[in-house]
Amino acid sequence: MTFDTVLMVDWSGGNDRGPTPKKDAIWVCAARAGMSEEPVYLRNRQVAEDWIAAFLTAERAAGRRVLAGFDFAFGYPVGFGKTLTGSDDPFAIWDWFAERVEDAPGSNNRFDLAGQINGLFSGLGPFWGNGLKRDIADLPRKGRDRNGHQMPEKRQAEEQAKGAFPVWQLSGAGAVGSQVIMGLPMLARLRQRFAASVWPFEPLISDIAIVEIWPSLISKAVAATQPEGRIKDAHQVWLLAQTISGLPDTDLDRLLKTPPNPEGSILGLGHEQMLTDAALGKLAPPPLRNDCFAMPQGAYWTPVDDALAHLKAQLRSVTGTEDLPVSEAAGRFLAQDAKAMRSHPPAPNAAVDGYGFAGPAGEGAQNYRLVDGRSAAGQPYPGSVSKGQAIRILTGANLPDGVDTVVLQEDVKTGNGRVAFHGPLKRGANARDAGEDMRAGAVIISAGRQLTPADLATITAAGVGQVSARKKLRVGVLSTGDELRDAGTPAGPGNIYDANRPMLCATAKGWGYQVIDLGRAPDDRPTLRGILDDAANSCDVILTSGGASAGDEDHMSALLEGTGTLALWRMAIKPGRPLALGLWQDTPVFGLPGNPVAAMVCALIFAQPALQVLAGGEWNDPQGFMVPAGFSKSKKDGRREYLRARINDGRVEIFASEGSGRVSGLSWATGLVELGDQAQQIAPGDPVKFLPFGSFNL
Ligand code: AMP
Ligand code: MG
Repeated sequence: MTFDTVLMVDWSGGNDRGPTPKKDAIWVCAARAGMSEEPVYLRNRQVAEDWIAAFLTAERAAGRRVLAGFDFAFGYPVGFGKTLTGSDDPFAIWDWFAERVEDAPGSNNRFDLAGQINGLFSGLGPFWGNGLKRDIADLPRKGRDRNGHQMPEKRQAEEQAKGAFPVWQLSGAGAVGSQVIMGLPMLARLRQRFAASVWPFEPLISDIAIVEIWPSLISKAVAATQPEGRIKDAHQVWLLAQTISGLPDTDLDRLLKTPPNPEGSILGLGHEQMLTDAALGKLAPPPLRNDCFAMPQGAYWTPVDDALAHLKAQLRSVTGTEDLPVSEAAGRFLAQDAKAMRSHPPAPNAAVDGYGFAGPAGEGAQNYRLVDGRSAAGQPYPGSVSKGQAIRILTGANLPDGVDTVVLQEDVKTGNGRVAFHGPLKRGANARDAGEDMRAGAVIISAGRQLTPADLATITAAGVGQVSARKKLRVGVLSTGDELRDAGTPAGPGNIYDANRPMLCATAKGWGYQVIDLGRAPDDRPTLRGILDDAANSCDVILTSGGASAGDEDHMSALLEGTGTLALWRMAIKPGRPLALGLWQDTPVFGLPGNPVAAMVCALIFAQPALQVLAGGEWNDPQGFMVPAGFSKSKKDGRREYLRARINDGRVEIFASEGSGRVSGLSWATGLVELGDQAQQIAPGDPVKFLPFGSFNL
């Protein structure tokens, strides 16, 4: 059962008639794909019902399935319906209320109706809590005055949900009885008008499902995430809509799969922890789709830009989030926007050492009487400075009352308790305004940013001590090939040293990821399979090198082929060519070429931006610049070329050999020259694009 849109409604038993918003009126919030819109305030039930009906109409017209949640009981304890309508059919109760409830912004008949219903029961009750001045026959004011009505106090759901109120109480703090009476007629009308299905009374076959919710199930998450200045009811529907809409289908199915229950139930009851975790973003996001690397194989060789566009479109973050103190957050990707907790600077202060006074100062000689005392950073002057007076003030000190301008100490003469200087000086000179750098509440660093040392200063200055960050991406690095030997161990003439692994491990570490060294795999399929099985459990993404082509000993591509997720990308790129991408038990695998130069170039061009997105960051297009060539070259058509390069004397030179086996050229270079897909003749002095290694975050 999948829903495109989740709508959460916080209903109300009261009505707001006044001009100013009331916190207990109605809040609704829509979310799609795990992202909530802004909550909407609806001042009374009439406005709300119209708004919801219009919303459902529009969603249906757009072909979207809607899960609509309402925060009041959909039914009463068993036995109530029998006495009221002659049957325990919950919809008969809905219709009963729909026919009798009168509701206008100024008045309604809920207390009288409750009294009438009580009359059908023996004894006194079950409803109580007459909220009107006048007495109502059969409706006691106090719960304890009830007797002999024979209704259970709570539904099963309220027995289970800690802190939930019974449906019989009509007034007083926390009472929900009135919401139910005033809500059921609206549900009855929506159900009929839209032929909606109602949980958990009937199978959810309609494209509109109506469910009962109770935001308090995730009250911990609500409290932990409520932004300053947002009303709690608004935040509750916002968070719940976002959480439910972001649940993987299997989790939502679990919530919806409950036995039919004529009393109604609360969606998510018994799954509070899972919902709270999801609301706090603690769960890892769902895995990538099986076909995420599948690319239309039109051209025989895939242009680099097509491959990059494909990765950019298909990938998203696979990491969970955690809260971290700022001091541990360098290099982490922000999971939520960081907002200034207070303004920076928090108060107007002096930008220089000097003398403060009320500006402006006019042309010519100026002379002020100095007040006794001074204002220093951390030691503000408590008094105020009157017109015509000045005060000694130091850099960073708050401007005392009456001071808005500072004259530089180098520009003054002092003596006899006076300070003199030459004007003019504009009002506000050498002073900083409160909040001129950052304003309290404003977003200062956006989600997705990999925090730099400077960012730590920025958010700390804004009073933020803790950030919501993505967990570190766990990157497994594996080399493949029978010929490989580890650094510093004996090797025969048929062996070569595993150069890729230290290089790729260090690269991934430099990008800020947690590196898991998966060692070397021989050219043997069962062994490689075992290594990948283990790696899939401990890594978020796996980088392998070697064995990625389609030859006999290319076991990496063969194994990925077996999972049905392999995409063997024949890249129109030099050096590089084959890139084997796939999912091993939901874990993405980047099968890089074995050749170290090709492995590095492909890691920079393809893996760098891809991993950054998997880690929770934004796609990175490396920023290069044009430099006159210090070489000549005739380049073939139909493939992108990357040359090891460095800048010398304002020109970019390239490594003597283009041979991709020449590892040493990678060390010689400080970046890559990128030559476009077309044929070109490059003569010395022609502008070519240089991508410094730094543009790949190296
Ligand atoms: P392959 O893609 O496995 O056919 O490897 C292509 C070339 O790269 C072969 O010459 C390999 O010996 C070499 N090679 C593969 N893996 C590594 C590695 N980890 N370090 C150095 N060279 C490698
Ligand atoms: Mg090999």
